[in-house]
Amino acid sequence: MTAATAPLLDVRDLRVRFDTPHGEVLAVDGVSWVLSAGETLGIIGESGSGKSVGVEAIMGLIKSPPGHVSGEILFEGRDILTISERQRRALRGEELAMVFQDAMSALNPSLTVGSQVSEVYRLRRHCSQQDARNKAVELMDRVRIPSARTRLNNYPHEFSGGMCQRVMIATALALEPRILIADEPTTALDVTVQRQIMALLSDLQREMGMALVLITHDLGVVAEAVDRAMVMYAGTIVEAGNVEVLFDNPSHPYTQGLLQSMPRIDARGDRLYAIGGAPPAAGRLPPGCAFHPRCERRVAECASVRPVLLPISDIQRSACHLTGTGNAK
Ligand code: SF4
Repeated sequence: MTAATAPLLDVRDLRVRFDTPHGEVLAVDGVSWVLSAGETLGIIGESGSGKSVGVEAIMGLIKSPPGHVSGEILFEGRDILTISERQRRALRGEELAMVFQDAMSALNPSLTVGSQVSEVYRLRRHCSQQDARNKAVELMDRVRIPSARTRLNNYPHEFSGGMCQRVMIATALALEPRILIADEPTTALDVTVQRQIMALLSDLQREMGMALVLITHDLGVVAEAVDRAMVMYAGTIVEAGNVEVLFDNPSHPYTQGLLQSMPRIDARGDRLYAIGGAPPAAGRLPPGCAFHPRCERRVAECASVRPVLLPISDIQRSACHLTGTGNAK
């Protein structure tokens, strides 16, 4: 791949494991994916699938010990797992920024919103308090917080959940990152506000030309907002591809189950489908395909042979023996 076509972010064989009193737990197990400049990628999965831990590793937020991160995370071709902590900190905010799910608790309740939005900018750009306040107003305007200049002096408890999420987004955008990672950014919000926050993220992405990584368990959000998506289960990617293809023609039984369990407006009165069983506990993965105890389509080899993620077309990859693309590690 030439430099001109190299992805902005290239994650290769990423593994994240944790030491626990009960032994080692592998939370992310050899995940590889790429992100191009300006692209939107959705990462879908249930709690415990490894989707959040994986991006925390990219952000350098996994504390070692007990966490251990291996593989390669290439940002513009440079492996950020091999750079110093100082260089890593510089990258955070300037190039990669993250918005977390519970904005209310992510904000400091004892500091005004204005001081929190302006802090990163003031510290990194070494500017005056006044310039930092002006920047905070600009950022709060950008995320459409009404009467931004007046509201600088408010505290987080004076904001609604949706407005707190806008404050978090403004803070993340202070240094104009190239990649914004949003981890369940709408989970704690009601449906109307969810839509507003998603529309805001899409607009900001377009205006600023950022790449957006959207982590969610909400398939509706993914369908509307992303170009490509990958589905994670038990620390691995089980299916990935162009979002239309994943929704119209899912290949993996887990993706199919997730889609079937989405509420549909035209299915009134029908019982909503649910995938049977529960995801395996971290550290207690079954042999073979980790989904096999829940899979309605399993075949004999599923219990002993682990499927690998392989292309089934130019725009879709799947890790399932039924797709006949390949076999175990
Ligand atoms: Fe189901 Fe087997 Fe495919 Fe796993 S490999 S998803 S158990 S059919």
